[in-house]
Amino acid sequence: MPKKKIVILGAGYGGLRTLKKLQNMHPEAEIFIVNKNDYHCETTSLHEVAAGTAEAEQICYPIDSVIDLRQTQFIKDKVAAIDRPNKQVILEAHEALPYDYLLIALGFESETFGISGINEHALAISDIPSVEKIRKHIIHEFACWKKDRDDRHLSIVVGGAGFTSFEFLGEATNRMPELAQQMQIDPRKVRIFCIEPSPNVLPMFDRKLAQYASEQLSERGVAFVIGRVSRVRANEIYYKNGQEEQCLQAGTFIWTGGVRGSSVIDASGFQQTRGRVSVHEDLSVPGNQEILIIGDCSEMIDPSTGRPFPATAQIAMQQADIAAHNLNAMVNGEPLLPFRYKFKGTVCSLGKNDALGEVMGRKVKGLPAAFMKKVIDNRSLAKIGGLETMLKKGRFSFNK
Ligand code: FAD
Repeated sequence: MPKKKIVILGAGYGGLRTLKKLQNMHPEAEIFIVNKNDYHCETTSLHEVAAGTAEAEQICYPIDSVIDLRQTQFIKDKVAAIDRPNKQVILEAHEALPYDYLLIALGFESETFGISGINEHALAISDIPSVEKIRKHIIHEFACWKKDRDDRHLSIVVGGAGFTSFEFLGEATNRMPELAQQMQIDPRKVRIFCIEPSPNVLPMFDRKLAQYASEQLSERGVAFVIGRVSRVRANEIYYKNGQEEQCLQAGTFIWTGGVRGSSVIDASGFQQTRGRVSVHEDLSVPGNQEILIIGDCSEMIDPSTGRPFPATAQIAMQQADIAAHNLNAMVNGEPLLPFRYKFKGTVCSLGKNDALGEVMGRKVKGLPAAFMKKVIDNRSLAKIGGLETMLKKGRFSFNK
């Protein structure tokens, strides 16, 4: 009898972790993993590349260096859609890939909420090309200022005041003065704004920790503006606070106001909300028992709050452990396990030697939190890439 085919889409936190666990189980199946790039990216560090405090190579490693190529075939291609009736994955450059069991872990995309002009004029922190674009864009804007002395070139506006926004702002407040000096520009001329509809920044954190974060960023020069972004044009970010529309003029606008699941979910006709499919406890899709979805493309309700779990790498990796078990169980015709989330804490970086968060029930901030952030990042490198990758790519120094 031909072997069953297990296909994993996405080699991020969820997909690659599932594959690594599954390989250890040696299932009686052919295994394929598809990813649009030939590298895995530590998405949780993308903001550093955007600000210019880390190089892209530091936060990426080749997929084929960490998987067992005797057990798994890696296909570098972009998934266009899933043809569920015919049980095959439609790829952009390769022939359709048939599956018996499918895991979808294609991650997130920036959500514009239909705000006019965001697609055309805003930059996003979503993958390596997008963050390299931000870094080059800021340098280009600073260079333009040297030619025409138009101060808009030295203004950076970040839309949204959540995790990604604050992590970027932390790095930007470290890097921008340095960049300005390197380019012989007075650092005091660089202006950084954060715009958010409510003063409730970092909603996922304890209020005192969130206040600590905004105070730290304010001290480093970030100006917080209360307003809902209403539309964006070249160098103009319009926002409303009440009925009146106002405008911030800036050469750089970075939108971190929301994320959604992959557009492949929409293209594949799943019942979904903003690219997220509500999955069963065992991570399977209602009506498609042979398909599991994890990470940012999935939605599960947290029984303790009645609200969906947040989209985090931590959840994607925990789901991956169950997904690996369940894929192997499907091949063997065994019962599937339910996913149970264990919150292990979360830490938001504020740049060099500063952070805030909750770890094992304790609130931490400043240097101890920055230390914990490095421990968490290194742990995730070890869990997915293995010890060697962690030693090569890990964060061990406090100088950056
Ligand atoms: P991902 O890890 O994003 O992986 C998706 C994979 O699919 C990628 O390899 C991508 O290349 C590939 N892919 C996408 N589309 C296609 C396609 N069409 N075809 C083929 N391949 C495709 N979470 C935390 O828990 N802690 C943090 O501290 C934290 N910090 C963050 C900081 C930043 C700046 C950002 C942006 C996010 C942060 N997150 C954090 C959230 C976390 O990164 C995501 O929740 C996590 O990446 C989701 O994992 P995933 O496996 O669903 O997707």
